[in-house]
Amino acid sequence: MHKVFLKPGREKSLLRRHPWVFSGAIARTEGAVSAGDTVHIVAADGHFLGVAALNPNANISARVWDWNEGTQIGAAFFHRRLETAVGMRRSLFGREPDEAERLVHGESDGLPGLIVDRYADVVVLQISSAGCHRWRDAIIESLQQISAARAIYERSDADVLELEGLAPRTGLASGKLEIRESGIRLRVDVAKGHKTGFYLDQRDNRLQVGQLAAGRHVLNCFSYTGGFALQALAHGAASVTSVDSSADALQLARDHVQLNDLPADRCEWVDADVFQYLRKLRDQNRQFDLIILDPPKFAPTAATAERAARGYKDINLLGFKLLRPGGLLATFSCSGGVSADLFRKIVAGAALDAGANAQVIDQFHSTPDHPVSLAFPEGEYLKGLLCRVG
Ligand code: SAH
Repeated sequence: MHKVFLKPGREKSLLRRHPWVFSGAIARTEGAVSAGDTVHIVAADGHFLGVAALNPNANISARVWDWNEGTQIGAAFFHRRLETAVGMRRSLFGREPDEAERLVHGESDGLPGLIVDRYADVVVLQISSAGCHRWRDAIIESLQQISAARAIYERSDADVLELEGLAPRTGLASGKLEIRESGIRLRVDVAKGHKTGFYLDQRDNRLQVGQLAAGRHVLNCFSYTGGFALQALAHGAASVTSVDSSADALQLARDHVQLNDLPADRCEWVDADVFQYLRKLRDQNRQFDLIILDPPKFAPTAATAERAARGYKDINLLGFKLLRPGGLLATFSCSGGVSADLFRKIVAGAALDAGANAQVIDQFHSTPDHPVSLAFPEGEYLKGLLCRVG
């Protein structure tokens, strides 16, 4: 831990537990430090005074987090401080969910430079210190958990920001909203989730494919937050194995199983690259009754269609190989550069190479609130096929 040495006699205010250290009180700073770093403030004779966040360029050059030498500053520290601040208000004032209140009052709640107000189910935060700025993500994450807010809005635009050398920042910091889709409850993070937070274009297809899952062993590739998996479980799937390379999306998917009281013992969440994982499943001779392939956009434009075609061919070929006789493949493409015609040809080629005798049972499109203007055929980016192998 880097040390900040005070000038002789300048430790007095800290001994009275005032959390600010002014630039004029500092004799020297050990090591290379930058704004927001955690340091130990020590007196001229070297004895410990406090653990602080440094801001070498500001007049208030350090703000003390804690007075114990052993205190570690990290996500757990902020979680505890926020829990204490929010818990104190809950026990003393017991404000109703539709009321407003201050949840965190900066230095006085042991969080220098952090103000948090709650307006019913929206929490507004203001960060005005380099220290809190450094730990912004952890603070927002904890606030989301502790407050159960619908959304967290950031208003870091106070005049004092300039004094700390911080750029203003306003907007939705975290917005996990809850929606219902075909009877399933889903949390949507509009600030950090993919697209606008959720793939609304697949709504009706998730239900249709889910209804086909009853009694089947399902492989759900590119699962995101579990949209298809949840519908499959709700409709009585025997098991659902879901694969995605985003750990955050998989965590939210797991939360969704609990939120909807669905059988957690029937689902498996695999954090992996689908291209590799399908090969692993093939090498293990695993078989499924229903496979969903809903990859991200491989080709945004026609120019990139060829490379995309190889990607689709690869996963569809492996998909066909992993199906039991009578099994179903729900395969999608959201690449604007790959036409429905071309996609069907690619899937046909994949079936042929896999030695599968397949029929098209149905065709998928985006849900009708994504209309396609007759004058703008490019609007039809999402297409899919439901194939059955003989
Ligand atoms: N089926 C989902 C949407 C899928 S979006 C739904 O109904 O909501 C595509 C997903 O593929 C994203 O979650 C992304 O994280 C994941 N992904 C992208 N490339 C991947 C890869 N190579 N392997 C595994 N997952 C991948």
